[in-house]
Amino acid sequence: MFVVQKFGGTSVATVQRIKAVAERVVKTAKEGHKVVVVVSAMAGETDKLITLAHQISSNPAEREMDLLLSSGERVTSALTSMAIEELGHKARAFTGRQVGIITDTVHTKAKIARIKGDRVSKALAEGYIVVIAGFQGITEGEDVTTLGRGGSDLSAVAVASALHADRCEIYTDVDGVYTTDPNIVPEAKKLDKISYEEMLELASLGAKVLQTRSVEFAMKYEVPVVVKSSFNDNPGTLVTKEDDDMEEVAVSGVAYDKNQTKITVAGVPDRPGIAARLFKGIADAAIVVDMIVQNVGSDGQSTDISFTVPKTDSKKALKLTEEIVEELRAKGVTLRDDIAKISIVGVGMRTHSGVAAKMFETLAQHGVNIIMISTSEIKVSCVIEAKYTELAVRILHDAFGLQEKREAGGA
Ligand code: ASP
Ligand code: MG
Repeated sequence: MFVVQKFGGTSVATVQRIKAVAERVVKTAKEGHKVVVVVSAMAGETDKLITLAHQISSNPAEREMDLLLSSGERVTSALTSMAIEELGHKARAFTGRQVGIITDTVHTKAKIARIKGDRVSKALAEGYIVVIAGFQGITEGEDVTTLGRGGSDLSAVAVASALHADRCEIYTDVDGVYTTDPNIVPEAKKLDKISYEEMLELASLGAKVLQTRSVEFAMKYEVPVVVKSSFNDNPGTLVTKEDDDMEEVAVSGVAYDKNQTKITVAGVPDRPGIAARLFKGIADAAIVVDMIVQNVGSDGQSTDISFTVPKTDSKKALKLTEEIVEELRAKGVTLRDDIAKISIVGVGMRTHSGVAAKMFETLAQHGVNIIMISTSEIKVSCVIEAKYTELAVRILHDAFGLQEKREAGGA
């Protein structure tokens, strides 16, 4: 078998842990498998680098930011390779550039365009274990880029796809994907498997196990992904194509996201082209808008538009919105960041009815007010006041019987 094994920041946080990673990798290789390793920076390292940059500039150049941030993964890839060699196995570390991970030019959240990978294939053929620095690529013009926070997951999935690995294993500090955050609900159950679509919703909703874009990529190219712990040998959670038994339960998981800010534009003229103008401006700045709600005001002349953006982009989004508001002669802009988004997710929602109603009822029974609602075929999300986040997660997990319906599965 050909396997890509990705180790997150906590799994390479210390020299001791890097040695443990090397042992796992060498063990896999000795079982006769071909192994490519992808590593994150040591836990906290990327944050540290960001802090350094901000001590120098409040608005550091994004090109230099990428050069800076990519260094964290260089460190761990080299150290991991050394640790493998210490165990008597041949290893070679490569940066994103050396692998030929070609991206677009959107610094700090670049998209992968293609992967050359010939040096990796050659090294594998020569019997090396290959260790790749995650999170980074290079533009056609040879500038270093990074793939967004948590981007090593994407590096791993993309490499697995490009090199036709049999599967991509994501090693992290939890046993797999849970029905919700076990820190909030200790009875949360580990899922044996989950569909790409559900995982995508959960990832984008702030269940931090996998980076959203890595799941999109895995779904598109049907890369089987296994999420498991680097601290034990439990089987983990398989992220794969949807099958019939996944549809039996209406709700597979409850997710929350405290990293959202709501921006409201009041008194926007009610005519064609306004929303287009507003959201084009925000999209051009590569800011991802999540929920959007528009209401026609009671006077019939103007509308209110509310939308949510990640907290990290809120300043930028607010500034852009204020500029556009002036141009559109709207009444004003307000920002609210004491909010959280709570979501229930499940492919079974396609065939079960009354799921949304039950969610609203459950929140109402506990006096939790709903500020915004959005739905998709397999998800219902509500924006609520942030202080109710834990309560909402607990009561919804309970209301949908998530602690009972699934088997604990292997753990
Ligand atoms: N080191 C990067 C981050 O902290 C990428 C990763 O860990 O996946 O976001
Ligand atoms: Mg991660």
